[in-house]
Amino acid sequence: TNVPDITLNNGVRIPQLGFGVYQVPPEDTKEAVLTALEFGYRHIDTAEMYGNEQGVGEAVRASGVPREDVFVTSKLNNGFHAPADARKAFDRTLADLGMDYLDLFLIHWPLPKVGDFAETWKALEEIAATDRVRAIGVSNFQAHHLQRLLDETGTVPAVNQIEIHPYLVQDELRSFGAAHGIATEAWSPIAQGRVLGDPVITAIAERVGRTPAQVTLRWHLQRGDIVFPKSVTRARVEENFALFDFSLTQPDMDALTALNRDLRTGPDPDDFNWIP
Ligand code: NAD
Repeated sequence: TNVPDITLNNGVRIPQLGFGVYQVPPEDTKEAVLTALEFGYRHIDTAEMYGNEQGVGEAVRASGVPREDVFVTSKLNNGFHAPADARKAFDRTLADLGMDYLDLFLIHWPLPKVGDFAETWKALEEIAATDRVRAIGVSNFQAHHLQRLLDETGTVPAVNQIEIHPYLVQDELRSFGAAHGIATEAWSPIAQGRVLGDPVITAIAERVGRTPAQVTLRWHLQRGDIVFPKSVTRARVEENFALFDFSLTQPDMDALTALNRDLRTGPDPDDFNWIP
């Protein structure tokens, strides 16, 4: 495929465009991931919280694509931040995926009021010292959370996966990551569809002959972020992958960035305490 790689701070390469499976029902996950692999996606983003790791593993095995050609990310669920629990949760994730290694393992949420994410991070560092994971990172970390890891631990996260779309452009946090070698991954890259009717985006889409989803995803790619849009609709899975035969001009890029209104569709990471 023609998806470029991003090189993480430990030399591991990750395809810049992948497929997300949040809210894909477990019973539909195998088919959705098979469809994505068929269209050429080689990077799948799941989490224990999504309850569908088994379907991801089944799809990779059934696809005929060699395991080492697919980049698989999963995440530590919120109830398991204590180091001993984190180690067990990681084992469970590998067992559910039916894989003997993971490409990337993330702390899903910092939960700053619940536990001590720096201790959790040290548990991930131990796992990363084995051959069972190729890279470790975090999700939903603010700059001050990242700073604690930089100050108190020995490993810089390979990625920070955060909510980003044209209504929440997150340029400060992206710059912080870039300054410290932390790649940024953009979750809910089309704001679960909320940005697709925006008149600025629809006007650009019409002019360049692409869909609003393609224009928005292309904006992410040209900013250098890693994205993994989610869809269970075959035509959209294909559409969301067709991003490499056009580009946006700088004025169009700037017009999308100017749509920022600091609008979160998900929780504020500093206040989020939810444990499933
Ligand atoms: P998304 O922004 O990818 O939007 C998905 C929704 O948009 C779909 O359900 C569908 O309704 C619609 N859609 C998709 N493609 C479309 C198209 N071409 N045209 C029209 N509508 C379309 O939202 P998401 O699933 O929340 O985010 C993507 C991935 O990010 C997730 O699947 C998950 O892997 C990850 N994620 C991570 C976190 C986290 O806390 N780390 C949180 C949310 C999502």
